[in-house]
Amino acid sequence: MIPLRSWTIALGAAVFTSWSLFFASAQDGKTDSRWFGGPGSKDAVVRHLDRGGPGGTKAEEEVSTSSPSARAERRQPSVVYYSDRVAVLMYHHLQEEPERGDILSPRQFERQMALLAEHGFQVISAEEYAAFVLEGAKVPDNAVLLTFDDGYASFYELAYPVLKKFGYPAINFVIVSGADQRDKPGIQKLTWDQMREMQKHGIAFMNHTYDLHAKEADASGREVPLTGRQYLKDKGRSETAEEYRKRVLDDLLLAEKRLSEELGNELRMLAFPYGYFTEELVRIAREAGIEILFSVKHGLASRKDQAAPRVNAGRSDMEPVEVIRALKALGKGGK
Ligand SMILES: [Zn+2]
Repeated sequence: MIPLRSWTIALGAAVFTSWSLFFASAQDGKTDSRWFGGPGSKDAVVRHLDRGGPGGTKAEEEVSTSSPSARAERRQPSVVYYSDRVAVLMYHHLQEEPERGDILSPRQFERQMALLAEHGFQVISAEEYAAFVLEGAKVPDNAVLLTFDDGYASFYELAYPVLKKFGYPAINFVIVSGADQRDKPGIQKLTWDQMREMQKHGIAFMNHTYDLHAKEADASGREVPLTGRQYLKDKGRSETAEEYRKRVLDDLLLAEKRLSEELGNELRMLAFPYGYFTEELVRIAREAGIEILFSVKHGLASRKDQAAPRVNAGRSDMEPVEVIRALKALGKGGK
């Protein structure tokens, strides 16, 4: 069993003040351990969002002891779009002025977060999602899990301040070698220090492989993710099942080892790079002790998913309100 600690917080102007106070004192190191066992730890946090509606909010923070009834304290939304399922929103990179459609601006992200609250969506933590999948625990109606892929530094710079403002937890699936090897080319990645800081405020960091986030051509020139069976050019053949298993298992275990060493992770979750997965790959992930898996297939997540589908909300060419419409449509069984 995962022990649950909970707290309730209201959105609104008043709360920003209390949050500033909270974070100010958290920076003194006084409140962190009381509020969070640390995302990714089994000393789980349930975050309740009690919304008073626009203009009608009152600051309300409350720490209660572990109890399943704590979950019921979350305010029932006036409209239920879906129950016992989770909309796992997926984001990647953020830029102030997005240079491509698949990058989001912080303004759009902030608008999305405000709309989620206004429309009665309830953001849950990594620990709540784990309890939902592994223990059959309930999630609130219209549950949303915020996930970011690839561990970009832009998460710290542009998304994290918004998450803090709303008091929303989130998960970032990091390519772990990006934190260990700072001279790697490509978009700048999060440092371990940044992750440790954010971890104190409800952000969990999970596995997106240690170093398998790339593709290689097979014999026919088709690009295959490194998490798939590779063609060994020097040997003129494909990997055997055992060669493949060992290579991927070693990578996933190294990522888990580093997440545990640097962040104290106990929960294990994996987002498959490019959303690519097969039965064979799922078996290898499970062998690495990872039961909670995420794809990029579009849809709402339920307990029976082998790899949870997600909803891509990280596009700047999609109006924030479109994300809300997509979630409502999925709730009605739409695609
Ligand atoms: Zn990725």
